[in-house]
Amino acid sequence: MQIVLMGAPGAGKGTQAAKLVKEFSIPQIATGDMFRAAVKEGTELGKQAKACMDAGKLVPDEVTIGIVRERLAKDDCKNGFILDGFPRTVEQADALNGILSELGKKLTAVLNIAVPAEDLIGRSVGRRVCKNCGATYHVDFNAPKVEGICDECGGELYQRADDTVETLTNRLNVYVESTRPLIDYYKRAGLYTEVDGRQHIDKVTEALIKVLTSVNG
Ligand SMILES: [Zn+2]
Repeated sequence: MQIVLMGAPGAGKGTQAAKLVKEFSIPQIATGDMFRAAVKEGTELGKQAKACMDAGKLVPDEVTIGIVRERLAKDDCKNGFILDGFPRTVEQADALNGILSELGKKLTAVLNIAVPAEDLIGRSVGRRVCKNCGATYHVDFNAPKVEGICDECGGELYQRADDTVETLTNRLNVYVESTRPLIDYYKRAGLYTEVDGRQHIDKVTEALIKVLTSVNG
């Protein structure tokens, strides 16, 4: 089951990816983790990526695509994977098709956890993160048992500096503009499904599983 999971910042993509990992026993492959692993392993592409990041430059597409190719060829991906943060462009989507056909696979589905911008801003502004373990909470939707204190570890909760209305609005506008061509691309390919991300976390998971079960069976 080869899945691309999309969702704006704050749509709950990370949470849902974790649930799908459990449900289908396939790895979540987030772009950032993939880069860090390649750098740590000291692969040729990892070195090139590190040189760019150290210089404050964008990692060129061919390096990113190469890292994705190496990652998807690993053993743990043989039953599938959930890609998170890749592809970001139509060019990368084309490259992904190429990689998958080299591996004798194809995409099962592209799932987008859709949440209107105003809801996302409300969510993000209420977000609180544990200083100690990184667990996330929300003052309205997922409040800790004791205000300001992490349920998991007792650590102090804080609001990230970039969780403000202005930065979130900008970030969302950039996200919507940049993903529109990608969404059209996957719609044309008949792979795209939108799931209403405004529902309760468990309902969103159910909806995602339902789509995946139907397209895969
Ligand atoms: Zn904690």
